[in-house]
Order: sequence, then structure tokens, then C-alpha cells
Amino acid sequence: MKTGGLQSVGRRREGRFLVRAIIVLFVLGAVLSGCGAEPVAEDERPLVVTTFTVLEDLAARVAGEHLRVVTLAPVGAEIHEWELNPRNFVDLENASLVLYNGYNIEQWMGQARSTAASDVPFVPVAEETGAEPLPIILGDFEGDPDPHLWMNPRIAVQYLEVIRNAFIELDPENTAAYERNTDEAIAELEDLYSELEDTLAVIPDERRVMITSEAAFLYFAEAFDLEHEGIWGTNHEEEGAPDQIKRVIDLVRDSGVGVVFYESTISDRHVRAVAEDTGATVAGPLYVDSVSEPDGEAPDYPAMLRHNARLLAEHLGR
Ligand SMILES: [Zn+2]
Repeated sequence: MKTGGLQSVGRRREGRFLVRAIIVLFVLGAVLSGCGAEPVAEDERPLVVTTFTVLEDLAARVAGEHLRVVTLAPVGAEIHEWELNPRNFVDLENASLVLYNGYNIEQWMGQARSTAASDVPFVPVAEETGAEPLPIILGDFEGDPDPHLWMNPRIAVQYLEVIRNAFIELDPENTAAYERNTDEAIAELEDLYSELEDTLAVIPDERRVMITSEAAFLYFAEAFDLEHEGIWGTNHEEEGAPDQIKRVIDLVRDSGVGVVFYESTISDRHVRAVAEDTGATVAGPLYVDSVSEPDGEAPDYPAMLRHNARLLAEHLGR
């Protein structure tokens, strides 16, 4: 009995040694493989591909931690005429869902579509909002639906709802989270709307005129009771032709506001030409087709509109 007892203790010790050795080997293996060239862990969450940074920001708000959200056109890029890069092709091949604005702002959507798997849903968020589009006011595309609907925060609320519905369809298990995230984001945009109204209230009626390069602020102007003009109608036509500049020079003189604005994604040389001829001040940038870098002045959608309203109030207010 005694000997048996000792023997079994010995076996137990031996057993524990074996377990320890296995643990040590396992940990060592994990450490070694972690040090290798292989990525430590693949992100297994479904990939949502958006077409530009504003849509990426709105989508990320709804997704929370449950989905991976990327953008094709990066910060500061020209969304109308973006050219897909190698990274974009990889993302599109791995996409579970593609969110794009629609109303033809992404001139390159055909190529994106043919790159993604055929069963991947493509959701034109602006078109799905049901909001009535405003017509492009001048140029070759005059009368076509203007695509910049997100610039009205009340329509941006509808963007959030379209995105939420697309996410619930993609990943019904996390429905409650998508609903909660959307409600929070909507509440923030509703507060933002009244905040912007207050910021812009310092601008008297006769100075509520914003003149920019691309006439991309129609929805913003309508929401906040401003008049709006641009040198050209949309970025996918000729930009800054002599007759376009001449037309705006006349407008600036007639309006008497004495300020022209440039946008973050467009060269300011066209508004500078207008300013030289009219003596108007050049102000900017305004943000419309892209947010700023994360450490910039307009890193997300609310910050972008807040920045625009402050800049307008500073230059048009009395
Ligand atoms: Zn644009």
C-alpha cells in the first residue's frame, strides 16, 4: 500500500511535469509564430467597403465594433474621378457589402462592381434615402440629380437609416447594436442641426450667399437658408474654363458679399482668379467631398459641417 502510494505520487509528479512541458511548448510555439512574418491574426469581421470618407465615417458610426469599414477614395481625394488602386481591388475582392453614394458621383462604379464577387450587395445610399434630389444648377450636367445629398444633416440621418438596414441584412445577429448605434448617431446629428443654425444666425439676409468652386453645397444651402453658386456645376465636367470664371466674376460683383470659398479637394487657383478680378477675399477650405486627416480641422462628418458653418459665419457674418 505504502509503496503503491509513493508510486502514484511519483506518477502524479511525472504527469504534472508532462503537462507543464506541454504548456511551455505551446507558449513557445505561440511566441515563435507571433514573431514570424505571418500576420498575428486575421480580422474575421465582415468587410464593408465604402466609396469615400464621408460615407466611411457614417458607416463606421453604425457598425461599431462589429464590422470592418474601409473607404476606396482616401482623405482629400477627388471622389468624382477616383481611379481604383491595387489596395482598392483587394478590398473589393474581400467585400461583404459595398456602400456607395449614387446619383453618378462615383463615375468609376462600373469597374468597382466588376471587381467584387457577383453576389455582393451594392447599396446606393443617397438614392435609397428617398430624399428628393435637387438638380445640378449649371454646366454640362445641368438638371441631373446633384449627388451631394449628405450635406444636409437631415438627409444624413436618412443615410444612417439606409446603412443600418443594410447592416442588419448583412449581419442580423447584431441587429440590436446597429439600432442602438444608429439612434445615438441620429441624436448627435439632430443636435448638430440646431447648433449649425445658431452658428449661421449671425449672417444677415443680404449676405447669405456662398460662392465656391464646385456648386456642391445645394443641400447645405437649402437646409440653412443660403443662396449658393459655383464656378462650375459638378467636378466631372470642365473645371475653371474662362467663361465659367467670367460668369462668377459677374456674380461676385452683383452679390456684393466680397468673399469666395475654395474646397479641400479642389485647387484654390480658380477662386483666386475670381478674387484677383473682383477684390474679393479668398476663404477656405470648406469640406464637402472628403473629411480632413484625423488630426485635421474636420476629421469626421459633424466636425466637417461645424467647420464649414464657422468659416461661413466668420466671413459672411456681421
Ligand atoms: Zn463633389
